[in-house]
Amino acid sequence: MKIYYSDAHLQHNPPFEIYDGGEKYPHLEVPERAERILAALKQNTWAEIFAPEDFGLDPILAVHDPDYITFLHSAYHEWLQTEADAGYDKTALLPATFPPRKQRRKPKALLGKAGYYISDLSAPLVAGTYAAALAAANCALSGAKSVSQPVYPPQKPAATFALCRPPGHHAGKANCAGYCYVNNAAVAANWLSKQGKTAILDIDYHAGNGTQEIFYDRADVLTISIHADPDNEYPYYSGYADETGRGTGLGFHHNLPLPAGTGDQTYLGTVEKAIALIMAYLPSFMVISAGMDLYAGDPLGKFKVSQEGIHQIGKEIAGLKLPTLVVMEGGYNNAALGENIVALLGNFA
Ligand SMILES: [Zn+2]
Repeated sequence: MKIYYSDAHLQHNPPFEIYDGGEKYPHLEVPERAERILAALKQNTWAEIFAPEDFGLDPILAVHDPDYITFLHSAYHEWLQTEADAGYDKTALLPATFPPRKQRRKPKALLGKAGYYISDLSAPLVAGTYAAALAAANCALSGAKSVSQPVYPPQKPAATFALCRPPGHHAGKANCAGYCYVNNAAVAANWLSKQGKTAILDIDYHAGNGTQEIFYDRADVLTISIHADPDNEYPYYSGYADETGRGTGLGFHHNLPLPAGTGDQTYLGTVEKAIALIMAYLPSFMVISAGMDLYAGDPLGKFKVSQEGIHQIGKEIAGLKLPTLVVMEGGYNNAALGENIVALLGNFA
């Protein structure tokens, strides 16, 4: 199985994020996550590690607002210049001002723009964020290209894993949030959709709200997200069951929210519902947004899915026998992260 990984992710290592209540904590989404996964994969003979190809900006700009991507590129360095005399720590750009609803004017001031494009206090920009986010998108695109090519023997569909870091599924068309900057899965799925209908199944504990926004009006990419009920859990403002798409996209988005404490049996029953929706759609390609924070021991999650449960989820998806790109999203139990991904991917090897 081809694994796409770039050590450019090491450049994105924000020193802190801000939790509810205003406390400054060490940034939970750390380079160690990707290194642990890589180390666990290397223990398996089926895992072949490749550096990603550079696809340039076009496939990223096909799903993200160009001004937003320019902001990601330049904001941190611009901030160092414009706020040079501000007298506070400038290791991570994180705004304190956010646009009120229905007031979406984009100001010229750097810190105003930061509030415009950064939606919450868990998406700080540091010097290496842009380079890391581009490399992650290139990992997903390289995986997409790989699964789109014919496979021999033909009865075994291709499956690849993009070891993306930073993750992507909370990044919308023009905003970063929740550790996500460029929506790697959406960039790859959009690229694949030019060659055939594509389905995205998001199994991260948190709703894939960025992916939902990006494809909400489209019928050529089916999006399904299984996640914690947003009434009680981040990202709060979308991911509800009655959000099913808009216009030509109506009926092509599905949210399957689940309560805290959900274990293997309920989760796998929900995966079966998702699989039925995917089979009815008849896609040519599958993209899995693989967040491992559904795992019982995750510090950010409240599900009780076991490692065996994660293995079974992979088995259900592999049973579709479709060319499948698995994209890394969240997952913060670092000690179990590598083994959890191996449990998921072993089904495709
Ligand atoms: Zn998550």
